[in-house]
Amino acid sequence: MTPLLATTALITGYALLCWALPFGRCWRCKKTGSHPRLITRRLTTCRRCKGSGLRLRHGRAAFNYLARIHADATARRRANQPTAGTR
Ligand SMILES: [Zn+2]
Repeated sequence: MTPLLATTALITGYALLCWALPFGRCWRCKKTGSHPRLITRRLTTCRRCKGSGLRLRHGRAAFNYLARIHADATARRRANQPTAGTR
């Protein structure tokens, strides 16, 4: 397997993972939603996932960001175009 083919397979696999399972396990609380404080050891709501135990994968976050840019750009273009019959 050539390095290019291996890299392509890796990127495709990660893209499919981000499409099929956009949320991964929170590394801070390990999907419990809370973790002990450093000094007092009292359980508090996880700030990374806001208590859900899940986090958005980086690949999916990048896709959502690019999709939002595309939607905004095409919405502005559509808004500036005159519609038929309104001259
Ligand atoms: Zn968490």
